[in-house]
Amino acid sequence: MSSTSGNNLLQSKNMSKLHQFEDEEQEGYLKIDQYNQKNVERIASHYKDILSALGEDPNREGLLKTPERVGKALQFLTHGYDVNPAEVLRSAMFEEEYSQMVVVKDIEVYSMCEHHMLPFFGKAHIAYIPNGHIVGLSKIPRVVDVFARRLQVQERLTNEIRDCIQDTLKPAGVAVVIECKHMCMAMRGVQKQNSVTTTSAFTGAFQNDVTRSEFLRLITASLD
Ligand SMILES: [Zn+2]
Repeated sequence: MSSTSGNNLLQSKNMSKLHQFEDEEQEGYLKIDQYNQKNVERIASHYKDILSALGEDPNREGLLKTPERVGKALQFLTHGYDVNPAEVLRSAMFEEEYSQMVVVKDIEVYSMCEHHMLPFFGKAHIAYIPNGHIVGLSKIPRVVDVFARRLQVQERLTNEIRDCIQDTLKPAGVAVVIECKHMCMAMRGVQKQNSVTTTSAFTGAFQNDVTRSEFLRLITASLD
């Protein structure tokens, strides 16, 4: 068994190029301010209207650059559309005989719900049991980010991560548990500030009660 805590490694703005991720092993942190200017302007023009519709004056000083900032922010928050998550995994797959559970827990998740375009965020815990191949550990949080940086629902996010790892790495099993707070629940609607939504998805060996329990015990155990 090996276990690691995932950091939120993905800080890059990636409009279309996968190769920008390949330097990541050395850098660990890659910040690229690169936007599709045409789309920024398109989003910004709509946001100017939205500010007016909200009763604001889009020409007052504090709001002058807001539509453009929102355009850039939204592009960053959805840049997962431009990255192929299977390629991320394939870029660091290695043949290895190790066949015990590999757990990456406490991976930060930042996503946006597709119903309200409000953030939801929390943690993902992921495990797989290698079947001939292992993957560079940093690629697991990376795959989480690729799917999270899209408009999402937590249920689909969970399944997409599971399916990507299963289909690409072809392990003996994959387990994904995600726990998130949803701003659309906390700030509006039922206004439940402290409720956490948990979703899970399992394949292969994790459909077995004993293996799944072992995984659940590992992700709830503290290292301290
Ligand atoms: Zn929502």
